[in-house]
Amino acid sequence: MSHSARAAFRFLQAMPKAELHLHLDGCLRPVTALELASTRGIAAPTSYQGMFDVLVAAAHPGSQAELLKSFELPIALMQDVEALHRITTELVEDKAADRVRYMEIKWAPALHVQRGLTLDEVIDAVAAAAHAAAGRSSVVVTLTAVALRSDDPELNVSVAEAAVRHRHRGVTGFDLAGFEEAFPDPLLHFAAFDVARAGGLGITVHAGELLDNGSLVRRALELHPRRIAHGASAIGDPAVIEELIARGVTLDLCPTSNVQAGTVASIAEHPLAALLRRGVGVTINTDDTTISNITLSEEMASCHDELGLTLGEIWECTLHALDAAFVDEETRGELLESFRAWASGIPELVPGYSTAG
Ligand SMILES: [Zn+2]
Repeated sequence: MSHSARAAFRFLQAMPKAELHLHLDGCLRPVTALELASTRGIAAPTSYQGMFDVLVAAAHPGSQAELLKSFELPIALMQDVEALHRITTELVEDKAADRVRYMEIKWAPALHVQRGLTLDEVIDAVAAAAHAAAGRSSVVVTLTAVALRSDDPELNVSVAEAAVRHRHRGVTGFDLAGFEEAFPDPLLHFAAFDVARAGGLGITVHAGELLDNGSLVRRALELHPRRIAHGASAIGDPAVIEELIARGVTLDLCPTSNVQAGTVASIAEHPLAALLRRGVGVTINTDDTTISNITLSEEMASCHDELGLTLGEIWECTLHALDAAFVDEETRGELLESFRAWASGIPELVPGYSTAG
């Protein structure tokens, strides 16, 4: 790492951050997975390195299908209250250690009912742990319930209803995820989104992770989301870009994860910078801290070193994450105020700052 890259990384590590696109089941600590596998009798590697190699996806090139396989073992380990509690707690602690000050945790409750838990019990477990860990770590945490593209639309309505029942416990968002190539039509789940929206949840949807001509993002916009998880393929159609700007829809982008999934060849070629500079609201995220083996500070450093974002642009994305967060207005205001207070006196973070000046 060069002197200037190291300087940027140190800065980004110290900077308060917000992360909106983060999956609980993609963030297990390998040592925790080792212990859960042995205590629950789940077939898995029995050494740290073996577990690390299974949990962390190959750097590149892969496919979305291959990347999704990385979730199989974590899901098998997350079928009881104690495991859900521990993994949620540790994720909040790990993010706090990286100076993430606001985070949204996404997970699909329907994936955690294989050993008898109900949807409500799954959500209760994650909500209780998130609330307790947030209080101890001075992190604001909200939760987003994820429906799966491959699931029955009626099951996804039940997930949305359960999520709405837990609004008072910090569930503030509703999302759809899964294998986009095999299940390309998100509109099959329109009813679930209606329930979530009527119940006051913020709407986001995974779409456009595959780089196409923008049609996947265009389709997802019919669900009237406030945000799109990924959506990098919008770069393929200027009309979709205009639509995102006009509607104020934010793209929660994850460059490293996209390289792992094989949808972009390298960080340097990721459309994040181009989308940002054309006026689309974008945020920077890891997607999965363990599967992608990257912290948010490291992801931002890659955007700085390889994609050429300035520190000011990364800060702009960070403040935008707070603007787009699924959080109540009072908390949003407090977060914005504390982030801005941190930035005051740092010229690189003033809009329009130029190294020439
Ligand atoms: Zn995702």
